[in-house]
Amino acid sequence: AARNGEDGVRCYAPAMGQVFLRRFQLVTQFRHAIDSGQIEVHYQPKVALPGRQVVGAEALVRWWHPEYGRLDPDEFIPVVEATGLVDALTAFVLECALIKIRDWLDRGMRMSVAVNLSVRNLADESFPDRVADALQRHDIPPELLTLELTESSVMADRERSLPVLRRLHTMGVVLAVDDFGTGYSSLAYLRHLPVDEVKIDKSFVLGMGTDLSDLAVVRTIVELGHSLDLAVVAEGVEDDISRDQLVGMGCDVAQGYLLSRPLPEERFEAWLEARTKR
Ligand code: C2E
Ligand code: CA
Ligand code: CA
Ligand code: CA
Repeated sequence: AARNGEDGVRCYAPAMGQVFLRRFQLVTQFRHAIDSGQIEVHYQPKVALPGRQVVGAEALVRWWHPEYGRLDPDEFIPVVEATGLVDALTAFVLECALIKIRDWLDRGMRMSVAVNLSVRNLADESFPDRVADALQRHDIPPELLTLELTESSVMADRERSLPVLRRLHTMGVVLAVDDFGTGYSSLAYLRHLPVDEVKIDKSFVLGMGTDLSDLAVVRTIVELGHSLDLAVVAEGVEDDISRDQLVGMGCDVAQGYLLSRPLPEERFEAWLEARTKR
């Protein structure tokens, strides 16, 4: 028990203690959560503009916690990301994604899955080899796997990240810069990164209908992306108006609630089937 002042241990408010306790629990329980099936991968479709062809999906994790119920990644990823456990998460999601791609290929569908990387993966020089092994094991063409990374995760350790990215890029895996336009992302630096795709952060896409500066940012990113020969993806597309604006700008791919929320695998399959029937 913490006693105020003595032994340099500071007393903390009970509410604060509960937050730390919960984080501590999430870290200690995470490995078991993966192994026991509490972590579930959901899929959110990506559609090529201006048409309706589904080009693939982004894999997004959810945790069905026995005590706390459904936890969204924004609560547990930052906690897990500070530990080596995030390596196990990436490996798990990658495995699910490749199984999904293989399943589609076996049914005559050529669609990609995007997996989110953490800053630790980018600093891990053995990561590209593990991706190559996994692609080979499932007999997947590398261009059907997209890996999403943020610019800040690259900048956290540029010296280590750049060789990892170059290696993945040379293998033929598609690399996407996520959350583009936020933080310290610099437009100029983008051309030094071996990437194929930019994803406009959803905050701008969500705001583009009502905020002229958001609209300007979206337009600028589409133009910049194309001038660098990159595919441009907009996430957070929630209504027809923003979709139509994006089409007008020449944005390549849309993702968002307008199409579908992230869905568990079986529901994603049902969504796909209903869509192709229409
Ligand atoms: P992200 O990579 O930027 O993922 C997009 C987020 O936007 C997802 O939130 C998605 O549900 C949400 N979204 C998609 N369309 C719309 C829309 O039209 N409107 C609105 N308001 N939101 C939309 P989610 O699933 O809660 O994931 C949050 C973040 O957690 C992700 O942001 C990503 O950074 C992280 N994450 C999720 N899965 C993984 C994973 O497997 N590994 C790692 N390292 N991070 C992950
Ligand atoms: Ca993402
Ligand atoms: Ca994003
Ligand atoms: Ca994000």
